[in-house]
Amino acid sequence: MSSPLGDSLDDGLPPYEAPAWYTDPLTAGGPDSNVPWHTAGAAPAPEPGCHVCQARPAAPADIRSHTGMIFWGQTRTVPGPFCRQCGIALVRTMTTRTLWQGWWGLLSLLVHTPLTLARNAHAYRKFRQLPVSTPPAGRDSIVPGKPVLRRPQAYVALVPLVWAALLITQIARG
Ligand SMILES: [Zn+2]
Repeated sequence: MSSPLGDSLDDGLPPYEAPAWYTDPLTAGGPDSNVPWHTAGAAPAPEPGCHVCQARPAAPADIRSHTGMIFWGQTRTVPGPFCRQCGIALVRTMTTRTLWQGWWGLLSLLVHTPLTLARNAHAYRKFRQLPVSTPPAGRDSIVPGKPVLRRPQAYVALVPLVWAALLITQIARG
């Protein structure tokens, strides 16, 4: 007696063929057709926005201010990135603060304050190269305000500079 399945086991069925997407996952129509395995999940991270207002583009630069206190000093750092408006605003504010608070200590006068001013000037040039950006809804960028040399506090810097110049002249005369 032959089973009703007997015939079909022997013949009549085509040999099994895997679908194309199974043998070649990059073939169009397969489940992973457009995503090679080595790039899956590696989407590029979005460019970070401004630290203050989230606007793009933003330049990665920290902004500093230095306060001299006779025997020691304190440097404050606000980490970037910043958009053009916020960057320029913070450079102006923190540079002005450094110009009137930065000189009151020998190490501050000779090292920290010149370094802080140079770094802020470098950051300022970066922000100046950015286009004006629009922050996302609900966020505001900082208003840049007056340039440093139109802020009276900046001229406090002349006092220690004149003092240092006098000191150097005296030393030079013996
Ligand atoms: Zn901003």
